[in-house]
Amino acid sequence: MSQERRFSFEFYPTKTDAGHEKLLATAHQLARYKPDFFSCTYGAGGSTRDRTVNTVLQLEQEVKVPAAPHLSCVGDSKADLRALLARYQAAGIQRIVALRGDLPSGMGMASGELRHANDLVSFIREESAGHFHIEVAAYPEMHPQARSFEDDLANFVRKARAGADSAITQYFFNADSYFYFVERVQKMGVSIPIVPGIMPITNYSKLARFSDACGAEIPRWIRKQLEAYGDDVQSIQAYGEQVISEMCERLLQGGAPGLHFYTLNQAEPSLAIWKNLKLPR
Ligand code: FAD
Repeated sequence: MSQERRFSFEFYPTKTDAGHEKLLATAHQLARYKPDFFSCTYGAGGSTRDRTVNTVLQLEQEVKVPAAPHLSCVGDSKADLRALLARYQAAGIQRIVALRGDLPSGMGMASGELRHANDLVSFIREESAGHFHIEVAAYPEMHPQARSFEDDLANFVRKARAGADSAITQYFFNADSYFYFVERVQKMGVSIPIVPGIMPITNYSKLARFSDACGAEIPRWIRKQLEAYGDDVQSIQAYGEQVISEMCERLLQGGAPGLHFYTLNQAEPSLAIWKNLKLPR
């Protein structure tokens, strides 16, 4: 692949001051590796709106790494979204991760006026033309609510046609699912970069729960090995580091245009993979 590869790290906004301090310390540590950008999630249904805005502005202005807010449309009105976009644009933010999002459990019906991520991408283009580089989500193993794999591919293509510049995938542990997804959407005429989202393995029970909910499959051979380690956290982490580093190597060799690390606000698990890959920074 001729284009330059890009590397990024994702954070989530925390509820406590102590958590926020840890996030900033992690960001400073990761900034030394000169990532292309940091991103910060938007709590389900917009539940972290202010914390996401504040974190993004701090990452951009204090840590001095370009920061991309995630923005979801499921719980926000067009007026809310318009105000946020104007605020980000005025602060010099240039990249946005545009999502439909999920509602927090118990919140009931969606209150947003835009129903799907492609509607949000169109809205951002209408409001701010070409100012933002727009990232969207991709699901190599299919979004869990999609009617079918084919339908999900068509919906991904819709987001690209609405004006997305690139995509970040849900995490996965099977490189072939990524290559197959990219091949299929390219055959449908979409050539935007699709960057693998990488989840370091640090805690098996949490990972298993989360993977069930978001539709990411942990292959049996990985699951069985992780289960065999029981409470031996060190072995889980060492094995996880090896498996994920090997997968990343395969992804990059196979033409993936970069990597996006889900840090969960911790530097070490992502950095261990980064160093194993000898990424040129
Ligand atoms: P969409 O692309 O809208 O897809 C959602 C579902 O609807 C899919 O099943 C799709 O096939 C279907 N669909 C899409 N368009 C149409 C259409 N026009 N007509 C009919 N059906 C359609 N969640 C958060 O709440 N906050 C975050 O910060 C956040 N960050 C994320 C970052 C990444 C990189 C990823 C991969 C996910 C993230 N999520 C986040 C989770 C995401 O919001 C959920 O997976 C959500 O359920 C779907 O969002 P989406 O943008 O992919 O939605």
